[in-house]
Amino acid sequence: MSKQTLSFQAEVAQLLHLVTHSLYSNPEIFLRELVSNASDACDKLRFEALNNAALFEDAPNLDVRVAFDKDAKTITITDNGIGMSQAEAVEHLGTIAKSGTRDFMSHLSGDQKKDAQLIGQFGVGFYSGFIVADRIVVESRRAGLPAAEGVRWTSGGTGDFEVETIERAARGTTITLHIREDKTEFLSHWKLKSLITKYSDHISLPILMQKEEWDAEKSEYITRDEWEPVNSANALWARSKKDISDEQYAEFYKNISYDQADPLAWSHNRVEGSTEYTQLLYIPSKAPMDLWNRDRKAGIKLYVRRVFIMDEAESLMPAYLRWVKGVVDSADLPLNVSRELLQESRDVKAIREGNTRRVLTMLDDLSKDADKYAAFYAEFGAVLKEGLGEDFSNRDKLAKLLRFASTTGDAVTVSLADYKARMKDGQKAVYYITADTLAAARNSPQLELFRKKGIEVLLMTDRVDEWALSFLPEFDGTPLQSVAKGAVDLGELQDEEEKKAAEQAAESFKPVLDKLKETLKDKASDVRVTTRLVDSAACLVVGEGELSSQLARMLKAAGQ
Ligand code: ADP
Ligand code: MG
Repeated sequence: MSKQTLSFQAEVAQLLHLVTHSLYSNPEIFLRELVSNASDACDKLRFEALNNAALFEDAPNLDVRVAFDKDAKTITITDNGIGMSQAEAVEHLGTIAKSGTRDFMSHLSGDQKKDAQLIGQFGVGFYSGFIVADRIVVESRRAGLPAAEGVRWTSGGTGDFEVETIERAARGTTITLHIREDKTEFLSHWKLKSLITKYSDHISLPILMQKEEWDAEKSEYITRDEWEPVNSANALWARSKKDISDEQYAEFYKNISYDQADPLAWSHNRVEGSTEYTQLLYIPSKAPMDLWNRDRKAGIKLYVRRVFIMDEAESLMPAYLRWVKGVVDSADLPLNVSRELLQESRDVKAIREGNTRRVLTMLDDLSKDADKYAAFYAEFGAVLKEGLGEDFSNRDKLAKLLRFASTTGDAVTVSLADYKARMKDGQKAVYYITADTLAAARNSPQLELFRKKGIEVLLMTDRVDEWALSFLPEFDGTPLQSVAKGAVDLGELQDEEEKKAAEQAAESFKPVLDKLKETLKDKASDVRVTTRLVDSAACLVVGEGELSSQLARMLKAAGQ
């Protein structure tokens, strides 16, 4: 193929414009992104080579090399991983296939400063090279292709890029960054090395740099042609807990999650027994923007004996915990395991159950710190409730983790256990009301009697509440009851006199009631005198066992 000039997909051009024109606050992440791509490429080679050892050619030792040239103002990152064919270079570097990046694009606000911060949160992969470079040259040859089918891809990060065929003996990819005038601080051994240990220490293959030596005669550092590893090349999760600092745990989290913020909590364990695996699970501090997309894949990376197998291994976490990030490294699964096989594996089932238990335990621990837990709950409380319908075996544990607002206060901090501890003598149920907003819940006429009697009522305003609560008929032996359903029997809390008054009223109002029943016969299944109202004249209630009005509205909105 002779030299061709091609245009970037419109979205890429838009993204590049933002990357190159914004006051990007954290330029150093470019190295993390490019080293992680190099490492991914090596993982992919190792994986494909499981079925085709010839792909290793004569270079079975995989590594990543980072070098720089002060005079030429370049930084190069070279890997001997899977490489790219010409078509792959055009496709992978000219279009955005990654759903994460698409998502990022859809959240751009048009405000350059804000959007620049967003880049930091998402990471924009390969294109982050243009934060520090005004020209990027990629040379690559895919493993298994002849030397004559190498490719050179070049771009200045504006509307288009060039591709041409080159001869390239070495398998893998070399990325050359032509550093911008105002980013030359990166042309330093010390700087690059410290960025590698900061961001890429856990990468499980060696990242090499050339040795640098002080030359007393010339009175300057000279670069020797001797490569040495600068990372510890040790998968973080495979190390012993006591050798890992909190900073390292947090950094690793940022590496696997594209999140800039520290995680709220993590848990790292080696699980032994019939299934052996290591789990390192993180609770993020902020919910991702697509939290409500149930098709969103899980946040778990699967490794088998330190060999990367796949991202987003959804079989390793139930859907309601899809926001948990982390790594599972199994000692038992075969290396060539596929997504389909995973679904059927008994080991995977055991791992999923182990992960679920672990997360629920982490949350239980977190709940002992009220402030931290409130912060967590504000982000993830609603999605956690999906678990009531999805995971019956952990229903009791989940119920303990729920928090609600109540008639005692707007803060979403009341647990079912708190509520029970405050129940009145003789109170037989946990009462709750569902509504669209707290104000609507609070002003509901259904609450009048409860207020008069001083009985606390939980106020529920999440869309999932109605549905989720239908899976939780009781908590710790006490039934949960909606105040909007059926006849509310306050039992011993209801005075004898009130009951009598109601019966008398029912008697004397009978003609009126009969008339109302007749008039409303298509609209209401019953009309009765009630003691539930104090100030209001009438209210609508839903029959026991019928859909509540809120749920009915929700289903209608969903087209059911
Ligand atoms: P991501 O890594 O999340 O897929 P990137 O923007 O970082 O997204 O990279 C885009 C794609 O370019 C990668 O998925 C991969 O196919 C290709 N690519 C990037 N760097 C390399 C490399 N060093 N070797 C082989 N392929 C690469
Ligand atoms: Mg990447």
